[in-house]
Amino acid sequence: MVDLTMEIQRLKQDRNAVILAHNYQLDEVQRVADYVGDSLYLSKVAANSKQDVIVFCGVRFMAETAKILSPTKTVLLPEKDAGCPLAEMITAEGLRALKSKHPGVPVVCYINSSAEVKAQSDICCTSANAVKIVASLPDHKVIFVPDENLGDYVAKQVPDKELILWKGHCVTHAKVKAEDVKQVRELYKAAKILIHPECNPAVVRLADFVGSTSEIIRYAEESEKTTFVIGTEMGVVCTLRETLPNKEFFLLHPGLVCPNMKKTRLESVYQALRNHQYEIDVEEEHIVLAQRTLQRMLEVV
Ligand code: SF4
Repeated sequence: MVDLTMEIQRLKQDRNAVILAHNYQLDEVQRVADYVGDSLYLSKVAANSKQDVIVFCGVRFMAETAKILSPTKTVLLPEKDAGCPLAEMITAEGLRALKSKHPGVPVVCYINSSAEVKAQSDICCTSANAVKIVASLPDHKVIFVPDENLGDYVAKQVPDKELILWKGHCVTHAKVKAEDVKQVRELYKAAKILIHPECNPAVVRLADFVGSTSEIIRYAEESEKTTFVIGTEMGVVCTLRETLPNKEFFLLHPGLVCPNMKKTRLESVYQALRNHQYEIDVEEEHIVLAQRTLQRMLEVV
């Protein structure tokens, strides 16, 4: 029987590859990765990587982002059907129609968007830097796509701006309801409740702390508290339980599991390296424009 972990290490050397894994990936995948983190961190790693091949264990828009930032490299997505329903809720055509209704208004696109949508936008953002990115723009009106919940959260943090929002949402984070937060508050009275801004505004309002994946992890690391309820994908709970064994972590809602993020298994990483699959291809014209959108973000943060 093949020892997949050893084979992955061997093939990685052979192919001169680097393995990146999002925090929402399965433990078995995170363990073989060279870098584990959120979208912002991984996009910076991809931009600076020296290897010829990037194996991106995540969903399609993340691998596309790596390709946009490193167009001469081979970027592999181990599971070809690992998509992001939120990113698929907006098309370039839909964005063009929205822009035509608001001529001259800059577009901020969440990193959870296709290469084509990024190419149509002015600047990109992640949940870790969305407030900073919107605040950095000189304009009063800003189009923010495609996550309506994140956009609502940003609008509240930057009240002097008027945000025009697209009606997209993350189907996983949207499962949490305000009632769930009230219930866990009763159940774990001493716990801090940490929530991702992709959750709906009624949920976010009840949080002790709102932040991106990496900000939630940092908060739990630095806090003197020992019990936390985590309102984001369960992969973050797994990471926290492993890295902070003296603290307790509970998942806010059992539905906080992204099925697309869980498609990638150790076997998929092995097959990706072995068979050079599935190579990400982004059209040249989209690469040039989307690169500008991403670089603008990386200059601000
Ligand atoms: S958790 Fe939500 S936003 Fe993240 S990849 Fe899954 S569906 Fe997309």
